Amino acid sequence: MELERFCNTMPTGEECPVAYASRTLAPAEKKYSQIEKEGLALIFGVKKFHQYLWGRKFKMVTDHKPLLTLFGEHKSLPTMAAARIQRWAIILSAYDYHIEYCPSEKHSNADGLSRVPLPDTTDVGTAAVSENIHALIAEHFEQAPLNADQVARVTRRDKVLSKVLKYVMEGWSMDVDESLKAYHSRRNELSAERGCVLWGTRVIIPDRLRKFVLKEVHVGHPGIVKMKALTRKYVWWPKVDADLEQVSRACESCQMEQKAPRQVPLQHWEFPGQSWKRLHIDFAGPFQGHTFMILVDAYSKWLEVFKMSSLTSQATITRLRRLFAAYGLPEHIVTDNGTQFTSVEFKNFIQQNGILHSTSAPGHPATNGLAERSVTSGSFP
Ligand SMILES: [Zn+2]
Repeated sequence: MELERFCNTMPTGEECPVAYASRTLAPAEKKYSQIEKEGLALIFGVKKFHQYLWGRKFKMVTDHKPLLTLFGEHKSLPTMAAARIQRWAIILSAYDYHIEYCPSEKHSNADGLSRVPLPDTTDVGTAAVSENIHALIAEHFEQAPLNADQVARVTRRDKVLSKVLKYVMEGWSMDVDESLKAYHSRRNELSAERGCVLWGTRVIIPDRLRKFVLKEVHVGHPGIVKMKALTRKYVWWPKVDADLEQVSRACESCQMEQKAPRQVPLQHWEFPGQSWKRLHIDFAGPFQGHTFMILVDAYSKWLEVFKMSSLTSQATITRLRRLFAAYGLPEHIVTDNGTQFTSVEFKNFIQQNGILHSTSAPGHPATNGLAERSVTSGSFP
C-alpha cells in the first residue's frame, strides 16, 4: 500500500516530514478496486494522524486524480459511488481539509518506504465481518433468480465487461475503445464486488444475462414506469432504459397498464362529528328520462334525492337553497367538477352562505366517494 507521509510546511515553503506510515493490504482489501485502494490509503492516513489533524486545517496530496472528484472538500456526497467510498466521504466530512492532485513523478519522494511495507496492521475484524456478510447474503439469496456467482462467471467471459472489471481493479487507461465509453464515463463510480462490476449499488449485468433480467422484471406486466423503477434499484447496463422500453412497447398487457388512469390516493374525509356538517353532492341519471341530484350527509349517511328538471347552476342553487332553509346550512360541501358547481354563480352562492366547497380532482370521481357510491351502488330509487 502506498506510503502516507505527514509533513509540516515550514515558513520557507519547505516540507518537513513529521511521520511516515504504511501497511500492507488485508486480504479483503486486496480485492478492492483501484480507486478504493487509493481512497483507503487516504483514509488510513487521516485515521493514523487523527490526533494531529482533528480540528485543524490540513492539506491532502494524492496522485490519484479521481479522488478529487469524490472527496473534494466542497463536494456533496458522491451518491453514485460505491458504498465504501460514500462511507469514507462521510468520515472525511468531519475534517477541515483541502485536497490536491500531484502527479506521481513529483509525488515520488514519499515512495521510499512503500517498498518495505510494514506488516498488516488492520484490525482482523474487517475481513471476518466481510466474509460473514457474504455468507449471509448467499444464504438469503439462495432462491434469487440470479446470484453473484452467476453474474461473476458471465462477467469474466464477457468481452467488454471483463475489460471493465480489469480496469476497475487496476486503473483505467487514458483512451478506451467505443464499446467501453459508457463505462469509462462512469469510471469514478464503478467498483467491484465478488467478481461483479457495480455502478453505485447497481450490479452491471453482462450482455448474455440481460435478456433474462428483462424477462424477470417484466413478470406481471408492471408497465414501463414500474419496470424502470425496479431496475434502477438493482441492475444497470448501457441503454438499459431503451431495452426496457422495447420490451414494454412490444407487450400489449404493459401498454394497457400504461393507459389505465393513474391511481390517486383515495381521499379520506375526516369524520364530521355531527350531522349536516359536511354534505357530498352529485348528479345521477338520466334514469327513466330523469336526472337526480343526490345529497349525502357525511355523518348520518342521510340521503336526499331530488328529481331535477334542469342541471344549470341556477336550478342547483334553487334546490339547495330550499333544502338549507329547511335543515340549516352545512359547513362544507363536496362535489365533482361539473359546470353547475364551478360557475361564478355557484361560487357566489357558496361564498355568501359561508360554506366551504371542495371539488374532486378532475377525472377522479373517487374523491367524492360518498355521493358516488350512492349513485353507483343503486342505493337511490
Ligand atoms: Zn408486459
